[in-house]
Amino acid sequence: MDRLFDVAVIGAGMAGIVAARDLSKKGYEVVLLEARDRIGGRTYMDHACGTVLELGGAYVHWTQPHIWGELQRLGISVNAPTQEGRSYWLADGAVHSGSPEDFYGIVAPLLERLFADSRARFPMPFDPTAIDNTEIEKESIEDRINSLNVSSHERDVLEAALSGVVHSYKDHGIAQLLHAVATYFGNFGAFLETAGTWSIQGGTKRLINGMLDETTAKLLLSTPVDSIADEGSQVTIGTRDGQKIHARTTIVALPINTIGDVDITPALPHAAQSMIAKKNPTLAGKLWIRVRGEIEPFSIYAPAGKYPLNAARTERHFDGDTLVLCMCSDDAAIRSEDRLGVQAALRKFIPGIEVVDIAYHSWVGDEFSKGGWMMNRPGCFTTGAVELRKPHGNIHFAGSDISVSEAGSIEGALSSGAQAARDVSVKLTKRHLKI
Ligand SMILES: Cc1cc2nc3c(=O)[nH]c(=O)nc-3n(C[C@H](O)[C@H](O)[C@H](O)COP(=O)(O)OP(=O)(O)OC[C@H]3O[C@@H](n4cnc5c(N)ncnc54)[C@H](O)[C@@H]3O)c2cc1C
Repeated sequence: MDRLFDVAVIGAGMAGIVAARDLSKKGYEVVLLEARDRIGGRTYMDHACGTVLELGGAYVHWTQPHIWGELQRLGISVNAPTQEGRSYWLADGAVHSGSPEDFYGIVAPLLERLFADSRARFPMPFDPTAIDNTEIEKESIEDRINSLNVSSHERDVLEAALSGVVHSYKDHGIAQLLHAVATYFGNFGAFLETAGTWSIQGGTKRLINGMLDETTAKLLLSTPVDSIADEGSQVTIGTRDGQKIHARTTIVALPINTIGDVDITPALPHAAQSMIAKKNPTLAGKLWIRVRGEIEPFSIYAPAGKYPLNAARTERHFDGDTLVLCMCSDDAAIRSEDRLGVQAALRKFIPGIEVVDIAYHSWVGDEFSKGGWMMNRPGCFTTGAVELRKPHGNIHFAGSDISVSEAGSIEGALSSGAQAARDVSVKLTKRHLKI
């Protein structure tokens, strides 16, 4: 392609879409390059279990400024969650049950101890490097739990309460979670509400279509990028099918786990390369289960790695049946055809429950994500991510995986995409004015 674009945005997930939209609205000529035959990335709605389901990111909150701004402008509201029902939790190998208050009564003091220093460590969440967190960066979530000296029962309860977002206590650093909790005033419950309670009316697809309608960017689907070369005056982007696309600048809005598949020249700084090499360790997934009948609401909590179903809850009644949402810590343990295996796993908590259908998308097995939501390994959150947020010549990075706010979320993707668009716009304006 001989045309010289102002900006080439690579990856049409939430981050790339918003960056392309914002820049094209400012009058720049933008091309948006997407590997898949659809946009939306790790947000994805599809027909499953007899209805349309969110197979990736779905939950948002009015406390998240970017997502809420988009929803309000587009006139989209959110769905209220269903009432909480009986809680079941797996601890010391046995199933326990009680009211939600019973469960929170055990877990709340443990969570308070786990996150006691969150606001001290991240007093200004919008600037995660405001104070030196080198020591904290060395800690995994497992190290932090070990330091609490809790009983094995308390440990299981604590790990189970985290299992909706944490799939490996050893591989995930405590820094990102402390930062997330600090963002919500030191309250893990408040953070969890933003991460998994309110879904978008009409779904993520409605939001994405709304944002797409506002852009004049040229969208190229089914166009995986395999090289990016910053040549000083312009960037040349190579695609798997042999195209060369030229632009003054580029925004790379790819999952951290696929950046390594792209040959980037000149080489990135060491801290950025190290984070790309270490990858997002999240190998978890989201399973939908359709169960027979309109059953009473329930929630299940089981420590990651100790049971195939970790955080499950009834989501809504549908066509005489009930949909159950379940976060599973081990992608490899889920086979989307194994309805009876899932039924057996659920029956440990709710005997007699009948599974009619299940739906699962393996984000780990998907070559254009190679992992789930972002959870930084120890040593990355305040180092590699910070480095990747800086411009590298004409190459800028964006995406929820490196976002300064709410990393690993839709809000993180939107805020990071919007920031990258602002940075590129300033750069192009200065270049135009020769200042
Ligand atoms: C199962 C699951 C549940 C989640 N639940 C929630 C939730 O409830 N709430 C929440 O806020 N967040 C949730 N998240 C996280 C959230 O979905 C993501 O953080 C966010 O959508 C990521 O947006 P992004 O634009 O940064 O990256 P992505 O959405 O991954 O977009 C990157 C894009 O780059 C494309 N791409 C990859 N490689 C190439 C290439 N070589 N060339 C060109 N294009 C390429 C991809 O196809 C993709 O479209 C969840 C994630 C998962 C997986």
